[in-house]
Amino acid sequence: MDQLGKLDGGVGTLKILVINSGSSSLKYQLFNMEDESVLCGGIVERISLKGSRLIHKVNSKKYVDETPVKDHKVALKMVLDTLLDAEKGVITSMEEINAVGHRVVHGGETFSGSVLIEEDVMKALEDNIELAPLHNPPNITGIVAAKELLPNAPQIGVFDTAFHQTLPEKAYLYAIPMKYYEKYKVRRYGFHGTSHFYVSRRAAKMLGKPVEKLRIITCHIGNGASITAVKNGKSVDTSMGFTPLEGLVMGTRCGDMDPAIVTFLQEKENLSTKEISDILNKKSGVYGLTNGFSSDMRDIEDTALKGDKVSKLALDMYDYRIAKYIGAYAAVMNGVDAIAFTAGVGENSPHTRKDVCSHLEFLGLKIDSEKNGVRGKESIISTEDSKVKVLVVPTNEELVIARDTKKIVESMK
Ligand code: AMP
Repeated sequence: MDQLGKLDGGVGTLKILVINSGSSSLKYQLFNMEDESVLCGGIVERISLKGSRLIHKVNSKKYVDETPVKDHKVALKMVLDTLLDAEKGVITSMEEINAVGHRVVHGGETFSGSVLIEEDVMKALEDNIELAPLHNPPNITGIVAAKELLPNAPQIGVFDTAFHQTLPEKAYLYAIPMKYYEKYKVRRYGFHGTSHFYVSRRAAKMLGKPVEKLRIITCHIGNGASITAVKNGKSVDTSMGFTPLEGLVMGTRCGDMDPAIVTFLQEKENLSTKEISDILNKKSGVYGLTNGFSSDMRDIEDTALKGDKVSKLALDMYDYRIAKYIGAYAAVMNGVDAIAFTAGVGENSPHTRKDVCSHLEFLGLKIDSEKNGVRGKESIISTEDSKVKVLVVPTNEELVIARDTKKIVESMK
């Protein structure tokens, strides 16, 4: 009740701190929810490693602090001190932060929406660690640090998996013995849910139609990449699976392949489970295809367009896999009204968008090449007479987290 009392106590506008805590980084944005503006934001990088630093951005100015950061608690303390700083800060008291919204990667089957993080939720998050051993522990560390440093602010968890909890059984089960689903919950969960949710809603708005009446394929194409079929506003299928490894060719992840390759390579190369997992998660994708040249699609695109055959093949495979999924999801929804591109590559690469769409002309889809030149801005890039609309929609996962946090905090009043 203290927390709610504080909100009612007239501390001014509702300010929400959004935290995305990764294994060695902590990203943050402070929102003023009166007009949903971002007051400031930044990242603490290389936590517990050599060369750690805080990069803070406010009023289009950038500040870098290279004080060593030993763990996530120290990182968050640095962020809070920066928010309070007379020069680079935007608040005068910690009490101004009314709530904290946390990005949590894996909610398992427990969470189909955002929640207030209390003891039972912490326990459920810990129970889900085995589903996301790389992602959930740093998320939990961030929550623990925020609870300690901002004990009066309600903490809200927003899950990457939640939006995909509407998948039907036929889409989320794998054709392996059912006992493994029953015993261990081995199934498709899907990720980037907050992004797919946001982008599908924005796309519907841009088209002037209710999302409940549209079949949209959202393509979150970044370093990690996934595609979702959003039918009448709900996720009905998605390319990432039990983990974020399945689906598209990514920066360093392999995406779809025959699972028999895993045991074949383990035997041939005498690899442990950790070693094979590292190869498929960290050394594959376009990075692996180019023999370690780069996992960054800008490098791949640049060299491919200059005529490098290895990069060209990696780029072709990357684009081809996206087109293949779009075709599959058009079938899943018995048609498609709109395709929305988002994230680093989706928002910024006319080449990939054009290449992907060149496979989809059979759907009556036509790209306007001039409009397709857009980078990082909301835009409809298909021609007027295209049967399927194609859009570029910059994602904003932080805003969804801030909105959900606000909704939950207000419902507590
Ligand atoms: P994200 O994970 O959403 O931050 O996306 C990162 C990916 O987007 C990296 O592979 C970047 O190289 C890629 N990216 C960013 N800008 C461009 C661009 N202009 N053209 C191609 N890829 C880009």
